[in-house]
Amino acid sequence: MRYLPIHVDLKEAKILIVGGGRAAEAKMRTLVNTQAALIVVAMDISDEIQKWVSADKCVWKQRAYKKSDISGVRLVYLASEDIALDSRVAEHAHAQNILVNRADDKQASDFFSPAIIDRSPVTISIGTEGTSPALARALKQDIESRLPNNLGKFALMLAKSRKRLMGILPSFAARQHFWATLFNGSDLTTKLSWDEAMVESKVSAQLAGLDSSSGHVALVGAGPGDPDLMTHQARHKLFSADVIVYDRLVSKDVLGFGRKEAEYIYVGKNPNGRTTPQEEINKILVAKAKKGLSVVRLKGGDPLIFGRADEEVDVLVAAGISFEICPGITSAAAAAAAIGVSLTARGQNKAVSLITGHDTKGFAEQDWTGLARPDARAAIYMGIGAARFIQGRLLVHGASAQLPVSVVENASCPEQKIVSSRLGTLADDLETQGIKGPAILMIGYAVRDVKKLQLVKTITKTGR
Ligand code: SAH
Repeated sequence: MRYLPIHVDLKEAKILIVGGGRAAEAKMRTLVNTQAALIVVAMDISDEIQKWVSADKCVWKQRAYKKSDISGVRLVYLASEDIALDSRVAEHAHAQNILVNRADDKQASDFFSPAIIDRSPVTISIGTEGTSPALARALKQDIESRLPNNLGKFALMLAKSRKRLMGILPSFAARQHFWATLFNGSDLTTKLSWDEAMVESKVSAQLAGLDSSSGHVALVGAGPGDPDLMTHQARHKLFSADVIVYDRLVSKDVLGFGRKEAEYIYVGKNPNGRTTPQEEINKILVAKAKKGLSVVRLKGGDPLIFGRADEEVDVLVAAGISFEICPGITSAAAAAAAIGVSLTARGQNKAVSLITGHDTKGFAEQDWTGLARPDARAAIYMGIGAARFIQGRLLVHGASAQLPVSVVENASCPEQKIVSSRLGTLADDLETQGIKGPAILMIGYAVRDVKKLQLVKTITKTGR
């Protein structure tokens, strides 16, 4: 993100527009809706700008630009359609650290005008950093069509209730939690249609049922990495969380769904290789929930698959803290999708084992005889370090060296990598390909041939 979208208070701020033609008019169309003091410097102005002058929405100085026009100005719009003049004004403005937007030169602009959806006081701005104004407009149209006209009025009603709530719930986190809970759920459209009485009654009803001393913990599956593969529930939970306790394998994009005011606690592996002990994580969950906070324990994939969820749940139950579990897409499912094959296929395998390469004692022992059978299929988690061990065990128990093994690293993420290997060469292939993980070893699964895989990818994309 090179450009930061911010909402600046322009009440009575002086804005200079140099030029009075179509380019200036285009910029001013939005500016006249603000409370800024607009000053147009130009020899001639368009009919539209003339109308704004007559309506006292801006002041027109009918003369050439003078250096003194810059003084006391907050923003400058250069739209004279005279490159030399625009450059001169830009130089004057920059000498005083005033931000400039140039209609003739996007590269030389300090800021862009975003596409704006104006339901004041609710405004939504869409920027593409100059890559495609047409895309911004298309997005604007799409979003605009989903928003009710009374959105601004609705926001003003909420402002009133917020004031009332300040006196009742002194804790900032408690108030945030209150509003997040009110907006929780999928029926936002219905909520946006509430009138003032309805807002008041909903707020009162929720207040009546509130026990501000009780916190809550949600064990949430973040999915394999692609934020599109998160559940709606996971997003809602993240959005309303006061505290987010997360693992190493939770992607940055997924974390982005949390509020910036939330407290983020990382409990994954540190650079020194030390993992936060489970007891410490348990203590954090209990301590935060006991403060009355809403805690999300965010885990990669599905929390119930190699996620040590039971240990956390046991501690929460013992401490009398309410909890819930929000499932997620496990990485083996994302890996299967990546190689374009079914985890279970009629006439081929009746079962699939989800197994781990490591357990508390080191490399994990499994029912190797069963796994070495020709129709056995397995998705192995945490198996990269144990690949040579797994390979050896399966071969010793009679599996074919030709058995296909697909390895999917960073499934669903932009850096996803697929290695198409065979049992006999698995560990060497992983080394040659530099696979470090996180990755799933798909034992007995061959990558679908490339042409068909392309097709699978296309279908997945258009299906979104
Ligand atoms: N609860 C998680 C698994 C946690 S164990 C889930 O349901 O996916 C951690 C292991 O998961 C990693 O060692 C790796 O084997 C696998 N894993 C997690 N994310 C992955 C990803 N995006 N691609 C491939 N494997 C992944």
